[in-house]
Amino acid sequence: MSDIYLDNAATSFPKPPAVTQAMLRYMTGVGASVNRGVYASAQDAGMTALLLREELCRLFGHSDPAHCVLTPGNTMGLNMILRGWLRPGDHCLVSSMEHNAVMRPLRDLEAAGVSFDRVPCNGEGYLDPEDVRRRIRPNTRLVLLAHGSNVSGAVQDAPAVGRICRECGIPFALDGAQTAGHREIDFEGWGLSALSVPGHKGLMGPSGMGALLLSPEFARNLTPIITGGTGSASDLETQPPYMPDRFESGTPNLPGIYGFQAAAAFIAQTGTAALREHEALLTARMLAQLRDVPGIRLAGPWERLDRAGVISVDFRTADNALAAARLEQEYGILTRCGLHCAPSAHRTLGTFPHGTVRFSPGWFTTAEEIDAAARAVAEIARAQR
Ligand code: PMP
Repeated sequence: MSDIYLDNAATSFPKPPAVTQAMLRYMTGVGASVNRGVYASAQDAGMTALLLREELCRLFGHSDPAHCVLTPGNTMGLNMILRGWLRPGDHCLVSSMEHNAVMRPLRDLEAAGVSFDRVPCNGEGYLDPEDVRRRIRPNTRLVLLAHGSNVSGAVQDAPAVGRICRECGIPFALDGAQTAGHREIDFEGWGLSALSVPGHKGLMGPSGMGALLLSPEFARNLTPIITGGTGSASDLETQPPYMPDRFESGTPNLPGIYGFQAAAAFIAQTGTAALREHEALLTARMLAQLRDVPGIRLAGPWERLDRAGVISVDFRTADNALAAARLEQEYGILTRCGLHCAPSAHRTLGTFPHGTVRFSPGWFTTAEEIDAAARAVAEIARAQR
């Protein structure tokens, strides 16, 4: 029995072969750092980083690759936004569906005098953009939302929230963890100030890589939380003010940059529309089969529109952790159970503290694998009744 990997919301697997090949090419044939040498392999590294920034900017509707900061991951990008922007006395708005990559830094900042409010989402995980407007205060300095929920799959109406933030003159930041690569994100069209994405989920690159896209105005006023050597302006002991060096200190993850660049090229070649359609078809296929299964509850929307490929099942008559263990041991189906680092989302959906079993297909998932997963859910739910 070969495994059926349905945990792409945690990290996508497998990766396109070009990703591994690019990382191997770096490790065996390049080896040089970026910004720190003029020899040919160092130029190769610099060019690869630039190609990656350009590809990500094309993908996310940003016109300046210098404002695409390469990060060690999405959690770092979100910390850079929150800790670099909010000051004591500031107020921040988030949704009730946020991941702990947002909530934990916010809790730290709360102890330092920052306040925040959660815009409540409905039982499927959606917020009403007008609720964002209603909660804006005179000292609100940032609105930050998970574009897609890693628990229910709900995708928020980011363009509508962007319009409200623009009207109110408040920076709007998006956590693209569950949408980047397979759904449209239009940085400039939606009026974003910041977008943080992981490289290893829908973008299909290696872990330990991410990107933080910034508007020039937001970047100018954002304080870097890490400073250090950049290979540039080395006569100065202060951080260079220009982009992207201002936010990129230390020798970066170069194998990661090579892999991420190959992954971004794969996404561009495949097309976001095709990726989204594949995800939507598989999600709809799974939901159609789960709909009549007694003994389970879906924590999220049944409809296919405005939802990502995250299917969270709450076994009413079985322990979710035991159900996930049976899925692996008896069916070879790999899922993630529990709270998915998002306790507030589970409170919103009514699945706290027991959590759910999450199925998340990816680009390499087949219809047959989805059918096998749906059958397994039905069997486990039936056996427990
Ligand atoms: N936000 C959301 C919505 C997520 O799903 C995740 C990953 N589970 C993160 C943030 C954190 O991303 P990473 O672990 O890649 O840093």
